[in-house]
Amino acid sequence: MSNKIHLSAPHLGEYERTFVEEAFSTNWVAPLGPNVDAFEKELAQYSGAAGAVVLSSGTAAIHLALRLLDVQPGDYVFCSTLTFVASANPILYQGANPVFIDSEPETWNMSPLALERAFAEAKRSEKLPKAVIVVNLYGQSADMDPIMEICNHYQVPVIEDAAESLGATYKEKQSGAMGKLGIYSFNGNKIITTSGGGALISDDLDALDKARFWSTQAREPAKHYQHQEQGYNYRMSNVLAGIGRGQLRVLGDRVDARRKVFQSYVERLAKIEGVEFMPEASYGKATRWLTAMTIDPTIHAISPYEIIDKLELQNIETRPVWKPLHLQPLFKNCEYYPHIEHESISDTLFARGLCLPSGSNLSEDEQEKVLINLESVLQSGKFILE
Ligand SMILES: *Cc1c(COP(=O)(O)O)cnc(C)c1O
Repeated sequence: MSNKIHLSAPHLGEYERTFVEEAFSTNWVAPLGPNVDAFEKELAQYSGAAGAVVLSSGTAAIHLALRLLDVQPGDYVFCSTLTFVASANPILYQGANPVFIDSEPETWNMSPLALERAFAEAKRSEKLPKAVIVVNLYGQSADMDPIMEICNHYQVPVIEDAAESLGATYKEKQSGAMGKLGIYSFNGNKIITTSGGGALISDDLDALDKARFWSTQAREPAKHYQHQEQGYNYRMSNVLAGIGRGQLRVLGDRVDARRKVFQSYVERLAKIEGVEFMPEASYGKATRWLTAMTIDPTIHAISPYEIIDKLELQNIETRPVWKPLHLQPLFKNCEYYPHIEHESISDTLFARGLCLPSGSNLSEDEQEKVLINLESVLQSGKFILE
C-alpha cells in the first residue's frame, strides 16, 4: 500500500489540523457549527456565488439541486454521458429519466451540437427536460456560453457538476458558478478533500436555504419534532468542514502542482506517435485534476486495459477514461444523442483513453517511474511497420 503510486491521493496542508483541533477543543463535533458556517462563506467567496451549502457528498448536492428544480417521477433530465455515475444516479432517485448527451472532441465535455439536437427533438415530442446537468470533466470547464445559450433559449435551468473542476476557470469566472446551481465534491480523490463531502452553490439564497432545510431532515421550526416535507441527512459535520477550510487555503497550490504533473507527462509522452492528451480549451484554465491521454489503436497494438494491467504489476494505478453512461447496463433504456449522428465521441475516448497518476503530492521520482514504465510499455506495443 505504502509504495503504491495512486491515481489521485489526498494531500493535506498545514491548516487542517488547527481547524479540526478547534472543533475538538470546543466540543463542536456534531453536524453544524462554526467550521460549517465559515467553510460555506469561504467557499461562496472563492466560487463567486452568493452562497454555498456544505453537504455529506457531491452526490447529495446533485440530488438536492434536482429537487430544487422540481424534478419529479417521469420527468426528463439531460446529462453529460462521459462522467462518473454519481452525475446521473440522483436523476434516478427522483424517479426521472436521464437523456445522455455526447462530448465534443475539442474539450471532451458536453457537445453543444448534440445538446441542440436533443432539445429540438424533445421540443417536437413535448418531452423538454426539467434540468440539464453539465459535467466539467477531469478539471476542465465545459464550453458554458453556447451551452447556456441553448438552455436559456428553451428556458431550462443548468446544474453545473463541478465535482472534478473546483479551481478551474471559464472566461475569468470560477468553474461551477455559471449554472443556476453548481456542485462540488470533496471526496478523497478530488483536488481537495474533506475525506468525504460536497457542496451546493448558487446565487439564489432562498433555494440554498431550502436545500439546507431538506438536508437536515426538513425539521419545521417547532419545539417538538414537526415534519411536513420529506428530508434527508445530508449535512457536513463540523469536524470535516474544518478539514475543508484548511484544504481551500491550499487549493491554488494544488492546481499548480497538478498542472505541473501534466506538463511533465506531455514533455515526455507527446512526442510518441499516436499519443495525445485531453486538449485544453483557450476559454479558461483547467486544473488537470487527472491527466488523461488517448492511444491510437492504428499505431499501438496495446490497449489501455493491457497498459493498466502492466503498470499494476509495477504498483502503479492507472484507469480507463470514464465508461460513458449510455453504455452502462443501468441506463440501457435511456436515450442518447451523439456529437454527430452515428459518430459518438465518448465511445472513442473510452476505447482509447487512459488516466495517469496525477496527485499534487506525486513526487518527481514517482512520476519518473510512471514515465519509464509507460514509455517501455508503449514502445513494446508498437506495430512493427514493414
Ligand atoms: C466525484 C464525482 C461526483 C460525486 O461526488 P461524491 O462527493 O463522491 O458524491 C459527481 N460527479 C462527478 C463528475 C464526480 O467526479
